[in-house]
Order: sequence, then C-alpha cells, then structure tokens
Amino acid sequence: MELKDKVIVITGGGRGLGRSMALELADKGARIALVDMHGADLEITARLCMEKGADAHCFVCNVTNESAVEGLFEEIATKLGAIHGLVNNAGITRDAMLVKAKDGEVVSKMSLDKWNQVIAVNLTGTFLCAREAAAKMIELGNHGCIINISSISRSGNMGQTNYTASKAGAEAMAVTWAKELARYGIRAASIAPGFIATDMVMAMKPEALEKLSSQIPLRRLGKPEEIARTVTFILENDYISGRCFEIDGALRI
Ligand code: NDP
Repeated sequence: MELKDKVIVITGGGRGLGRSMALELADKGARIALVDMHGADLEITARLCMEKGADAHCFVCNVTNESAVEGLFEEIATKLGAIHGLVNNAGITRDAMLVKAKDGEVVSKMSLDKWNQVIAVNLTGTFLCAREAAAKMIELGNHGCIINISSISRSGNMGQTNYTASKAGAEAMAVTWAKELARYGIRAASIAPGFIATDMVMAMKPEALEKLSSQIPLRRLGKPEEIARTVTFILENDYISGRCFEIDGALRI
C-alpha cells in the first residue's frame, strides 16, 4: 500500500511509540487519526505531524468503552473517509507477582483489578478497535491492514501474568484476523517490541535499566522510531499478513 493520503488510525497516539509511529507516517504523507485518552498529548503529536506537512486529527477515546469505540470509528469515517490502516498500540502495564510469599506465608497476590485493567485496554480495546475498523474498511474501501502491538513478554515474563496474557492474546487475534479477513483484502500482523526507550520502560529504576541493557545482545534499548519504521514497512508491504515481527535487539533469540 502506498501510504500517501491513506487514513491510518493509531491508538495510544498521544505519546511514546504511538507518537513516533505518527511522525513516521507523517513523513510518508499519510492522513493520521490519533486516538488517546488525553487531548493535550494528542494535540502535541498532531502539531508535530502537521509541522511535517501531514494531515493529523485528534480523537479522545477510551478504547475499553464499546460505545465510545463504535462512535470513534463513525466519526473518523465521517471526517476522513475510508480507513486504510489501524495500529492497536494503546497499552498499559500493572505488574505484580501472581502470588508472593515469605517464610511460607502468602504476603500478596495479583489483584483482580490489576488483571482486569490490563485485559481491558490491551486485549478488549484491541478487539473493539479492530472490529470497528474492519467493518469500516469493508464498508468503505474493501481493503486495509491492522497491526497489533504485542511485546516479547508475551511468551512469559516475571510479574506480568496480566500483561503477558493480553499480549499473547493480541498476537493470536492478529493471526485469526489474517485468516478471517483476507477474503475482504484486509491484512493483519503484529509487532513484538523488546525494551524500547519510552515512558513505560524509562519508569524502571536506573540500576534495573542498566542491568537490562547489558542483557540485550545489541547492548542498548530500542528507539521508538525503530518500531515506527516496522509499522510503515508492514503497512506498505501487501504480502505481509498473519506474522509477528520481533524487534528486540536479539534479546529473545
Ligand atoms: P506509553 O505508556 O508511553 O503510551 C501508551 C499510550 O496508550 C498512552 O498514550 C496512553 O494514554 C494510551 N492509552 C492507555 N490506555 C488507553 C485507553 N484505555 N484508551 C486509549 N488510549 C490509552 O507506552 P509505549 O509507547 O511504551 O507503548 C505502546 C505500546 O507498545 C503498548 O501497547 C505497549 O504494551 C507496547 N510495548 C512497549 C514496549 C516498550 O518497551 N516501550 C515494549 C513492548 C511492547 P495516557 O497518556 O492517557 O496514559
């Protein structure tokens, strides 16, 4: 797909990886629909895109809310027309050990609230946005591409029962959509980033970050633009579908 003038929706587009994806798409001349919970962050991303000469629009929406997501895609379609791409990037972590014990006594458990919050954004939000985007792609254009941002944590990571379940699920859903939606000319794929230098990762303690970087064969965190370039690569290549791209500096080989 040639990205010039194509409408690409990015959830979690206000900051972090989402902002970087928006800037990369702006360079390609795409029309960008930025979705996030906070208008102020969205406005900054949109301004940076427009400084590159791109058409960028802000939509405040909580991706966990079904009626809000339905309204969101109606609004995007009304304002911008046919939707050609969706990047399901909004995501959160709420880490805790499943069970923690000391001297044979259980001292803490992952709360149901932490489980529900992460599943709601990372899994249900991804499902809702993909469902509405696919419906609009079929109604208005009969082609498109959906990318789920997974994580290398999806194969299991300490303290992340909720997050790993959500990311493994997001990746599996992309495979399902690649099979189900191919008949409508819609592709689906996912990206599993390693540790990328955004707020989510930089919130870690400096000692932990240093230890982490030393364990990555390429000896550094990834840069947001390295994930963003993978997004445009997938969008542009019409024969990619159903696959997950691991971008992790060789951490998980
Ligand atoms: P950030 O925390 O920097 O950004 C996440 C964005 O998602 C924020 O703009 C946030 O909005 C938005 N968001 C959260 N909840 C909702 C919601 N309910 N509805 C709409 N938007 C929401 O994260 P990153 O940029 O680092 O991560 C982006 C994606 O990449 C996530 O899915 C993450 O799991 C994944 N990832 C990141 C890695 C990394 O190393 N950074 C590694 C592997 C995967 P708000 O500002 O309101 O919080």
